[in-house]
Amino acid sequence: MKQQISVLGATGSIGLSTLDVIARHPHDYQVFALTGFSRLVELERLCLLHRPRFAVVPTAEAARPLQAALEANGLDTRVLVGEQGLCEVAAHPEVDAVMAAIVGAAGLKPTLAAVQAGKRVLLANKEALVMSGALFMQAVQAHGAVLLPIDSEHNAIFQCMPGDYARGLGQVGVRRILLTASGGPFRNWPLERLAEATPQQACAHPNWAMGRKISVDSASMMNKGLELIEACWLFDARPAQVEVVIHPQSVIHSLVDYVDGSVLAQLGNPDMRTPIAHALAWPRRIDSGVAPLDLFAIARLDFEAPDERRFPCLKLARQAAEAGGTAPALLNAANEVAVAAFLDGRIRFDEIARMIEAVLNRISAIAVQQLDDVLQADAQARAVAQDWLVRYGH
Ligand code: NDP
Ligand code: MG
Repeated sequence: MKQQISVLGATGSIGLSTLDVIARHPHDYQVFALTGFSRLVELERLCLLHRPRFAVVPTAEAARPLQAALEANGLDTRVLVGEQGLCEVAAHPEVDAVMAAIVGAAGLKPTLAAVQAGKRVLLANKEALVMSGALFMQAVQAHGAVLLPIDSEHNAIFQCMPGDYARGLGQVGVRRILLTASGGPFRNWPLERLAEATPQQACAHPNWAMGRKISVDSASMMNKGLELIEACWLFDARPAQVEVVIHPQSVIHSLVDYVDGSVLAQLGNPDMRTPIAHALAWPRRIDSGVAPLDLFAIARLDFEAPDERRFPCLKLARQAAEAGGTAPALLNAANEVAVAAFLDGRIRFDEIARMIEAVLNRISAIAVQQLDDVLQADAQARAVAQDWLVRYGH
């Protein structure tokens, strides 16, 4: 039987890499649903190629022409609309696995819907887990979902962990998680020049081709901050057990340090098709299309400690991880507004951290009892961030 896969965020960077891997194994996987948001011409092309049962777009206005175009090509794909449509294809009884690859808080409810339906959930959408951490992990347990990390670092950590790591890191002899980071495009820029960094420069990542939001997060290292929080939830680690290591070559994707002094690492070329293929087939291994690692060509691996003056977002994220409750949701929402404003030319690169800090200083984090607490924190942080923009934006 072929595995039925829903790809949420199919038109994005992770979505396209996922479809590339799936297309290499037509006897094992079948695309059940594809979703897009603004790149609807691309979504139509993907539908014609993969012939899914469902497609999802944001509005009814967008659905009509797509439905008509697909019918004209002889497809019986049904086009669904909005968050409800996303949740429907994530939780559909015929679906085996869901690739959660929508960017940002918009992915939270559909990803949770997949978890609550007990699916195999391939998690790229780190923001969903950062926002709702405890609730998300409780839902995984309660509904018997299989959560597999796609983020290359977390996928690497998962591969280096013993099979029974859920017993607790102390129980299985894990001392620390070493989370690697490339340092992004600004690792060596003179500090005083960071203020003039343009969106184009921020999005020119040295090792990875990714969507614009995560590219800016990588440049500010907020991405590593979000990943620190993500690692704490996935592996039940305390923030102090996760150390960030800058490793500019992006060949080691992360490491696990054991009490006996052994350190296990996962290496590979920086290509997201490796973690995607790993999670799709786990515990089997399948071809991903990624070239074998050429250690002689790489020749050397470098490591350095991150500089908090250069990367203040990393410190803000660590503080939010330690504060817990709604703090990570506040951090994430403020960051989403700040990154969008930076990409729109309304704030400078160095103002991203300043704006997030201002939001975190204005709103107190509270304990999370239910999803509404998270959604309210998200809305509140966005409102305060917008106020900040009106006052200080350009
Ligand atoms: P992209 O921007 O390339 O793709 C994002 C996807 O989400 C697109 O399909 C987009 O649709 C869709 N989308 C955007 N906004 C909404 C919305 N409001 N509602 C529904 N769908 C929406 O991002 P990436 O693929 O780079 O990243 C996706 C996720 O994976 C992020 O959470 C990121 O942090 C994570 N990730 C990505 C990595 C990478 O290498 N790219 C590595 C590790 C994690 P459309 O394009 O049609 O507008
Ligand atoms: Mg990553």
